[in-house]
Amino acid sequence: MTSNFAFEQPFLPSSICYLNGHFCPLNEAKISVLDRGFIFGDGVYEVVPIYFGKPFRFEHHMRRLAGSLKELRILNPFSNQEWLEIIQELVLRFAKSHCQELHQTNQVVYLQISRGVAPRDHIMTQGASPTVFMMTNPFKSVPMQSRQNGVCCVSAQDFRWEKAHIKTTSLLGSVLSRQISADLDAAETIMFRGDHLSEGSSSNVWIVKDGVLCAPPKDNLVLEGIRYGLIEEICEDINIPFVMRKISRDEVFNADEVLLSSATKEVVAVAKIDEKLVGEHTSHSGQPGPIYHLIYKSYQSNIERVCNSQTTNKSNF
Ligand code: PMP
Repeated sequence: MTSNFAFEQPFLPSSICYLNGHFCPLNEAKISVLDRGFIFGDGVYEVVPIYFGKPFRFEHHMRRLAGSLKELRILNPFSNQEWLEIIQELVLRFAKSHCQELHQTNQVVYLQISRGVAPRDHIMTQGASPTVFMMTNPFKSVPMQSRQNGVCCVSAQDFRWEKAHIKTTSLLGSVLSRQISADLDAAETIMFRGDHLSEGSSSNVWIVKDGVLCAPPKDNLVLEGIRYGLIEEICEDINIPFVMRKISRDEVFNADEVLLSSATKEVVAVAKIDEKLVGEHTSHSGQPGPIYHLIYKSYQSNIERVCNSQTTNKSNF
């Protein structure tokens, strides 16, 4: 029986993907309806940026992946070296199909592992073979206008669960959260648990006050973005004082600067939250501030230094 409703199918790209040991076109990849990733969102994922054909902070991503898998009691199906080889193969195939040289391609690799296929039961199935899926897309840089002017965000309560440190494919909380800002044409939803800043729906949030960069503690209430460590290193390199501590709502709304970070956003300045300009008491009111500029510049040099060197022919660690 066919439905009376005619839905327009979203366009599925035919680019290459990896599924359970094979490469195939994305729009032909199939999994079982009993995959626990589909039924329960019982899986984990990573998003690894690729610059100049090389994974950036690969080992950090692998460490976080191992942590997420451990929380779900799913055995890691591959060693880091095996992950690296599959990622490199996927990136190369994608580059070739887009007539790009490997060292000129910037991509974003998405990888996910679910517990596998089993009869539906809430109890963690023993012995299922994990489903491993990977796809890649061109790295879409933050649009120039957002880079130059910063982005508008909205605030909302963080109604997600209390295991936000696991990078799980159960993302309904994040989807509902992101939609709040999407409905208002804003770039991100900045979430608070009670009076305290947690993070964005798909990014970490940072504030600057009196020259000090502050981030919420790395606990179970936030996902420790790979940029957490990177920005910490950058601060040390360029002598920006950095502290990790609980940050109140008032502090966010009265910060000199507010920043977002994620694999795809890299680091981006927030210009406005709800109706309030960020740093309205400063000379850069509603505009990216000096600490943002310093961190962004260092971030880019870090990528150049680590990925764009012809001498490293594997990944950068
Ligand atoms: N927090 C959440 C909830 C996220 O979804 C993301 C991005 N996946 C981040 C933070 C940033 O993590 P990363 O820097 O590793 O992209």
